[in-house]
Amino acid sequence: MIVGSGFAGFTCARRLCRTLARRGERDVEIVLVTPNDYMLYTPLLPDVAGGLIDPRFVVISLADSLPKVRLVVATAESVDLAKKTVTVTSQHHAPRELSYDKLVLTPGSVTRLFDVPGLAEHARGLKTVAEALYLREQLLRQLELADHEDDPEVRRARRTVVVVGASYAGTELIAQLRALADTYADRRGVDRSEIRFLLLDTAERVMPEVGEKLGDKVLEVLRARGVEIRLETTLSELTEDHVVLTDGTVVPTHTVAWVTGVTGAPVLSTLDLPMERGRLVVDEYLRVPGHPDVFAAGDAAAVPDLTAPGQITPPTAQHAGRQGRTLARNVAAALGVGAAAPYKHKDMGLVVDLGPGFAVANPLGIRLAGLPAKIVARAYHTYAVPRGVNRWAITLTYLTNAVTPRPLSMLGLVSPEEASFGVSEGIPADR
Ligand SMILES: Cc1cc2nc3c(=O)[nH]c(=O)nc-3n(C[C@H](O)[C@H](O)[C@H](O)COP(=O)(O)OP(=O)(O)OC[C@H]3O[C@@H](n4cnc5c(N)ncnc54)[C@H](O)[C@@H]3O)c2cc1C
Repeated sequence: MIVGSGFAGFTCARRLCRTLARRGERDVEIVLVTPNDYMLYTPLLPDVAGGLIDPRFVVISLADSLPKVRLVVATAESVDLAKKTVTVTSQHHAPRELSYDKLVLTPGSVTRLFDVPGLAEHARGLKTVAEALYLREQLLRQLELADHEDDPEVRRARRTVVVVGASYAGTELIAQLRALADTYADRRGVDRSEIRFLLLDTAERVMPEVGEKLGDKVLEVLRARGVEIRLETTLSELTEDHVVLTDGTVVPTHTVAWVTGVTGAPVLSTLDLPMERGRLVVDEYLRVPGHPDVFAAGDAAAVPDLTAPGQITPPTAQHAGRQGRTLARNVAAALGVGAAAPYKHKDMGLVVDLGPGFAVANPLGIRLAGLPAKIVARAYHTYAVPRGVNRWAITLTYLTNAVTPRPLSMLGLVSPEEASFGVSEGIPADR
């Protein structure tokens, strides 16, 4: 039984099917428990929020990709390690207990929230399709309302967007939202400079992941596009119509994105197993110590980094997908097929797409910025999306966007409640 259909769980299920089929093993049933019937390609969520890519193109249908897997569309609420059962719930069924022989825990992570008054009520994250769609619609709705507003103070608030978190996800998000707002401004006759974007982070630098030189380049490009960047600053309070920064500045706004990092999925804390930095402790074979039938990987697990002794692998898709392959191998070995192997992967760098005509990347330590990085970033994502039909749709979207502006129509599909951290990501109110 695999819990979670993200990079690690999806890859594990797919590889395990292939490995078992190759060995003619027909007596193994693979059950995948997941709240959604898709695998979400999260690295393109900023493009969804920016209205560039249709949300359907970044979700990979499990029924189509994993036809041999028994899909249980439900949430794992708890695990009884002694009885070897998982209790699952869904909107449409009463809680059920499912039995397993081998358990793979890959429920990923959720947005890390801090004890900031008003945060859960007034900010939204960027981990789910609902959140990405909501941010797009919220920006367009506020811009539309601003156009009909007589009070200059209120108009300014509606035309202000605050993004908290300047690592790659937050930076990509603000670049895409800026591009969406610029498209709106051009089409609706608004001066681009009247739409204010503010990027905050407690760190001293933006995107520490790409190093100082590329980070400086990113700062320069974002500033040239009119994004204000305040480092060593975060929020101390949020209300319906303004936020207060830690330096005391009051910024009137109705649109706040909170992209400050992640912590292990809530279900992990029900397991009573050792954790490190919010993630389940596992050994290099991705086994939970003391439980030979239980495996974990991806953002949910503190996987030892064999290329950097003493450290754990960062929570990235690059590692989660590869750990999925090791999971498949080691679960198969535990079932008597093949031999187990430790997880070892040296980080290959990052690609960061920063909206119109610009990206930065450091593949294999080679620093790239501008158009070459843009080509690498788009080629990489198109290749890495794990299904042909999605790749095709994304490629066509990029080509279309090269000759026509991104669409602005509001669909009004996601309510503020549906995009909240509680409903969208399943974060309990007391966390
Ligand atoms: C906006 C954004 C951009 C990113 N860009 C990049 C990038 O460019 N490069 C990169 O390497 N990484 C990137 N990442 C990080 C990457 O998305 C994660 O590291 C990766 O998704 C982790 O994979 P995972 O399988 O551990 O978890 P996820 O992919 O998060 O999957 C977890 C799965 O578990 C399910 N689940 C959760 N709880 C339960 C439960 N109780 N029961 C059943 N199922 C459950 C979820 O619904 C989901 O299907 C980005 C992340 C974000 C948010």
